[in-house]
Amino acid sequence: MCGVFGVVLPPGVASGEQSAAAMASLGLFALQHRGQESAGVAVSDGEQLMLYKDLGMIASVLDERRLPSLRGDLAIAHCRYSTTGSTVWENAQPTFRLGPRRALAIGHNGNLVNTRDLLGPLSGGRARLPASTDTELLTALLADEPARDTVDALVRVLPRVRGAYSLVVLDERRVIGVRDPHGFRPLVLGRLPASLGGPDDGSAPGLWGVDEDDRSGWVLASETTGLDIVGAEFIRDVEPGEIVVLERGQPPRSVRFATATPALCVFELIYFARPDSYLEGRNLYEARRRMGEELALEHPADTDLVMPVPDTGAPAAAGYAEQSGIPYREGMTRNRYAGRTFIQPSNGMRQRGVTVKLSALREQVRDRRLIVVDDSIVRGTTTKAIVGLLRKAGAAEVHVRISAPPIFHPCFYGIDTQIETELIAAQKSVAEIQDFIGADSLSYLSIGGVLEAVDLPRDRFCFACFDGN
Ligand code: SF4
Repeated sequence: MCGVFGVVLPPGVASGEQSAAAMASLGLFALQHRGQESAGVAVSDGEQLMLYKDLGMIASVLDERRLPSLRGDLAIAHCRYSTTGSTVWENAQPTFRLGPRRALAIGHNGNLVNTRDLLGPLSGGRARLPASTDTELLTALLADEPARDTVDALVRVLPRVRGAYSLVVLDERRVIGVRDPHGFRPLVLGRLPASLGGPDDGSAPGLWGVDEDDRSGWVLASETTGLDIVGAEFIRDVEPGEIVVLERGQPPRSVRFATATPALCVFELIYFARPDSYLEGRNLYEARRRMGEELALEHPADTDLVMPVPDTGAPAAAGYAEQSGIPYREGMTRNRYAGRTFIQPSNGMRQRGVTVKLSALREQVRDRRLIVVDDSIVRGTTTKAIVGLLRKAGAAEVHVRISAPPIFHPCFYGIDTQIETELIAAQKSVAEIQDFIGADSLSYLSIGGVLEAVDLPRDRFCFACFDGN
C-alpha cells in the first residue's frame, strides 16, 4: 500500500508564488498512513524534471528547506510501504527515467503480478534496472516505448500489465492519472480554485466565483483527504481502466485503455483509508460505524462495556455500542508517536510495537466484562498481546469482535499479507484462534455484513483474501 498525489497548478498562479512541490508535499502529508518507509516528489518546470526522494517519514524527507529548489508548476509525490523490493533508497518513489523517447517520473500504488512476462521484452533485462521494484520496470518500459507521446505509450504498454496499479505519471508538460481495469486501489480527481489565496472572509478555501476549467488547477490523490488538505474540490473517481490527462490551462482529458471490471479492495473501506475519506460515495467513518452495528447484530454478547482497539477499531466499536445498547468506553490508550502495527515492515518490529504502542486503562477494565472491537486479525500476535494487556489489567472477560471476515488468502495486489503461513485464519479454525489469542469468545463480521454496511453490490469489490475469488 502506498499514497500517491499529483498536482497541476492553476495557470493564474505564477511559478514562485506557489510551488507545486510544496502543494504535493502537503497533499501527500494527508496520505502518510498509506506508507511510512519513504517519500519523494518529482516536479516539472515545463522543460525538465527534477526529483527528490529519501527513506523516512514525509515531514522529514520533504522538508521545507529542500522544496524551494524544486521549481515548477507540475508535481507528483509518493509515500511508500514496500510490497515488492526492500526498503532501500533505490526503491523509493517517484521513479525517474530518461529514456530514448521521453523523461518520466512515476508514483505507483499497487502491485504488478506479471513482472516476469514484462521483463522479457525489456532491452538489457533486469540488469538495466537500478531498483528491484515492479514500478521501476514499468517506468523503463514506458520510457522505452516508441510511441509519439506519454499517453500513447501508456495506451500501448498498459494492456500487457497485470495486477494493481493506481499511478501518477509526470512528463515535461503533464500530470497523468491511471487506474488499472479493476480499480483495486483508489485514485480521485479534484479541482483547485483559480486563485489559491482563499476567500477574504476567512472561510475554508474552495471554489469561489470561478468554475471555468481552463482557469482551474487539478489534483490527483489516493484519497479525498489529500484533496481536502490542499483546498481542492472533489470532482470524481478516476475510473478503472481510465487515463486522466492534466495539462495547465486545460480541462482534464479522459482516455480509456481498457474495459472497466471494478474490484476495489474492500480492505480500503474496512481499514486502510482514512476515516474522513470518501470511497464509492461512502464516508469511511460512517461505513465502519455501520460495520460495527452489523457486527452487534450478528454476534451479540452479554458484557459491561464495549471498547475499541485504538485508533482504527473506534468507528466499529461506536456502532457496536449503539446497536447493542452496551456502554462505550476507552480501555486502552495509544502512544500517538508510535506507528501503526500492521504497517511496520518486519514481524519483530510488529511484536515489539504492540507494547510500545498500547497500554491498558486499569480503572476502566478491572473486573469488567469487555467487548473489544478491532478491524482485522492478520497474524494474531497483535490481538494476543492486546488480550494479554487487558487480562493483566484485571478484565473479568475479554470478548473479541472483528469488523471484517477472517483473512484466509494472501493478497497479490499490493497488501503485505502475501505469505499464507503468516495468516492465522489460513492455519487455524476460529476456535483455535480464540484459544491462541486467549479470548473468552471471538467472532468476525460476515461478507454479507460488510456489504450491508456499505450498501453496495458485491461485484464492485475485491474480496479475494476473504473468499479466494
Ligand atoms: Fe484487498 Fe484482499 Fe483483494 Fe488484496 S485480496 S486487494 S487485500 S480485498
